[in-house]
Formats: sequence, structure tokens, C-alpha cells
Amino acid sequence: MSRHSIVIVGEGGVGKSCLTLQFVHGKFAESYDPTVEDSYRKQVTVDKKQAMLDICDTAGQEMYAAYQDQYYKSGNGFIIVYNVTDRMTFERIKSYRDRIIRAKNSEEIDAKTKKAMGLEPDQDIIPPMVVVGNKIDLDNSRQVSTQEGQNMSKELGIPFFEASAKTNVNVTESFIELVRQIRKT
Ligand code: GDP
Ligand code: MG
Repeated sequence: MSRHSIVIVGEGGVGKSCLTLQFVHGKFAESYDPTVEDSYRKQVTVDKKQAMLDICDTAGQEMYAAYQDQYYKSGNGFIIVYNVTDRMTFERIKSYRDRIIRAKNSEEIDAKTKKAMGLEPDQDIIPPMVVVGNKIDLDNSRQVSTQEGQNMSKELGIPFFEASAKTNVNVTESFIELVRQIRKT
């Protein structure tokens, strides 16, 4: 069975832990220690093929930047989460994407390897990513529209879902799409 290492990133409070716990355990954890960084394992069947997912739910962004780059380097796929009721978290999406790409390209990767991947020597490796706009159940407090999310997705070329960890909307779908993206690489 193939194994994929998935890293969940995004600003504090966007719902990374709740999305992860909803996906892994099928329930909404109302409060989860925001400083806790944890790993989970879940077996899934996607398009009739099984895969084992190692999921890293990151926490405490800025304080442990170097430490976090290690996670970025070891990840096969990334879910970048924002909160649709907090515009600041949406505006940070691009910088997370850039940081992932930088971490993935920080070591010298020889031209031969890149060629085998269909890339030019000066082209960056773009790892599989999915963007998730979480907390859509809080519709009255929305600050980021679906259209804005779609525009960002198109601009960055990253698949996008609006989700709710609370009401379990598009949680599994987001992880499944990421597995599909990983398999394409
Ligand atoms: P993290 O810091 O990104 O891991 O965020 P958490 O998963 O700890 O969630 C932060 C807060 O947002 C908690 O109070 C959660 O109960 C709440 N939360 C997370 N996801 C949702 C959601 O989909 N809907 C609502 N209404 N609240 C959520
Ligand atoms: Mg958390």
C-alpha cells in the first residue's frame, strides 16, 4: 500500500485540528489545544485503491519556523486552510504556498531529476496542494466570498473547497482530492 505524508497548514484558529479530527475520527472537537501539534494515521480507499495517510496537524507557526520547514520538506501533499469568517487568514494563503514551494526546492535537485518530472532546470517543483476555506456554517460572519476563493484557486492553480469541520461538509472530499493530486505526481 502506498503511504502519503500530508501536512495541514494555515493560521492559528482556522480549524486545522478540527478538520483533521473530523476526517480521522468523524467527530467535531469543540475545543482543541491550539498549541498542540499532532500526527494521525488513517487508511483510505480512493478510486478503488488503498492508501495510508500520515497526517501532520501543525501548530504554533511563527515560533517554530525552522522546525516547521522540516515538516514541509517531508510532506508529500499539503492542505492550506483559511477561515471564511476571517479575511486575514485568506490573505496568508499565498505565503503558505510560497513557503511550501521554497521548502520543497531548498535542496539542489539535479537537472536530470527535473527533466524526468517534465520540468526545466530552473523550474520549481510544485508539490500537491489543496486550499480549504473552513467554517462555512458561520454564514452570517462571512468575510470571504466563494467567488474570491475560486478566483484565488484559479490564480494559484490549486484545487479549492469550502468546508465546515463542524457540520462535516467537504472534509473527506478535501483529503480525497489531495490524494488524487499526489497520485498524479
Ligand atoms: P487550529 O488552530 O487551526 O487547529 O484551529 P482549531 O481546529 O483548534 O479551531 C479553532 C476554533 O474554531 C475552535 O474553537 C473550533 O471549535 C472552531 N472551529 C473549527 N472549525 C470550525 C467550523 O467548521 N465551524 C465552526 N463554527 N467553528 C469551527
Ligand atoms: Mg490546532
